[in-house]
Amino acid sequence: MNEKDWKERYEDLLRQHESEDEANRELKELLTRTIIRLTLAANGLDSRLDPHLKGVRDAVRGGVNDKLKSKLNALSDGLLHFSEDAGEEDVDTTGDYIKLLNSLQLNKKEAQEAAGLMHQLADDPSQMEIGQFSRLVQLLSREQPVKVKKTGLFERLLGGPQGEHEQGPKPNDILLNLLEQASWPGHWGDEINQLKRRLDGKASTDAWSEVLRDLLELSAKSYGQVQMEIKEAEDFLEELTQRLQDLGVHLQSAHDGRNQIIEHGRSLSEKVTGHVGDLGESVQAATDLQQLKTAVRDRLSLIQSNIDDYLQEEKQWHRKTEASEQELKHRLAKLEKESSELRSRMVEAHHMALIDAVTGLPNRLAYEERVEQEYARWKRFNDPLCMLVWDIDDFKSINDRFGHQAGDKALRVIAKSLQSRLRVTDFIARYGGEEFVCLLCGTKGGEALKVADEMRRSVETNGFHSAGKPVPVTISCGIAPFTGSDSIDSVFLRADKALYEAKKAGKNRCQLG
Ligand code: GH3
Ligand code: MG
Ligand code: MG
Repeated sequence: MNEKDWKERYEDLLRQHESEDEANRELKELLTRTIIRLTLAANGLDSRLDPHLKGVRDAVRGGVNDKLKSKLNALSDGLLHFSEDAGEEDVDTTGDYIKLLNSLQLNKKEAQEAAGLMHQLADDPSQMEIGQFSRLVQLLSREQPVKVKKTGLFERLLGGPQGEHEQGPKPNDILLNLLEQASWPGHWGDEINQLKRRLDGKASTDAWSEVLRDLLELSAKSYGQVQMEIKEAEDFLEELTQRLQDLGVHLQSAHDGRNQIIEHGRSLSEKVTGHVGDLGESVQAATDLQQLKTAVRDRLSLIQSNIDDYLQEEKQWHRKTEASEQELKHRLAKLEKESSELRSRMVEAHHMALIDAVTGLPNRLAYEERVEQEYARWKRFNDPLCMLVWDIDDFKSINDRFGHQAGDKALRVIAKSLQSRLRVTDFIARYGGEEFVCLLCGTKGGEALKVADEMRRSVETNGFHSAGKPVPVTISCGIAPFTGSDSIDSVFLRADKALYEAKKAGKNRCQLG
């Protein structure tokens, strides 16, 4: 084969490879969509399977990875027990299929076709043709009309996929979730709490619209304040620039004035030297005493008037510079005061922007700042560093049973319990909703596990009180030490995975990843 043939063959192969890649990608997307729809549709068929279905659905969104594999294994174990429980009895699956297809909202004809294909699949998959299989996948994965647009964010706000809500989510709950999960500036704390209270529990169903309006008003007001502060800072900078220019002009004129005085001093000295020289000559030339006296008097009075002029000029110059120096000093003192006020306002604003309004702990933004610093330090000095990711167990049910205000109180109490067990060099932040993250500096994995377990026990023993009654509450933790070529994200993922293991193993425990 000549070089051209090779080249063509190589390009053909490349094209073939690309189109296979594209086909694989499309198939992967189709299967992902199908898995999500099937798990949504099958939700509620059997309560034992529901957690597995949710696990698979959550995992498949992250792509095909180990998490998905473990979730699929768990689902398949669940299905095994499901069918073992069903025993040898001839189970009628038709009812389940109909429930499933109803929830997919297919039209009657499509539902019948899909039900037939599903029966065939269940009876003997090997008899199914590839065309029939892809038709079934097509029916099950078809875009369905949904009441509310599905986005990742929306589902996060609902605390789960919206398909799990039988009559769709309630707007009050959506907004309440939004208020809870967003990170609000520290000084908004009271206002946000009031808004949350108005949406909580027995609030009228359309409370959300008023609350949303007030939230927008609050944002607009706060935006206005920010704009005003920016304007103030701009005015200040403008004034500062003006004062600095004044200072420049003053220094220049002081400099010029001093040069002029030096110049005058020099010319005075030249004049005096000239007069003294002339005087010498007059003395030489004088023939009588009277002539000598007159010559000396004339020269001396000239010298006297030159010195007087000079002193007068110098006096004026000093008076002028002193006045403008005083004025300048006064202005600079004012400027210094304004600048230190501005600086402390900015420090305060920065501090508030890093505090979580509900718990008073550092917030997610503060965490992002701190983890960067600790990571850089770890890279440089390689001292042990561990990350702990916490998530309160069954927190949703605390809100459901005792209300969101009690939930907020629980968050505060738990934050305090966790914080009280840490050293001053350690760091804790509220990462999001009911999640916290800690950085233990100078602590190795095994030691971090001990510390975390003490923290976990303190939450368990403290619990919190609602309406004067103690309410038990527990928390789980995933721990990951920074090692090798770790990035911040890789450590976080490991800790999060360990947290997931802790939850899977029964919650109220700490797991080292
Ligand atoms: P798991 O043990 O698996 O973590 O279950 P969970 O119920 O804790 O987890 P899930 O993620 O289903 O629910 C978390 C809940 O935490 C949902 C949300 O309403 C609640 N939440 C998040 N932030 C706040 C908050 O600031 N205040 C209150 N009261 N509740 C919050
Ligand atoms: Mg959570
Ligand atoms: Mg939780």
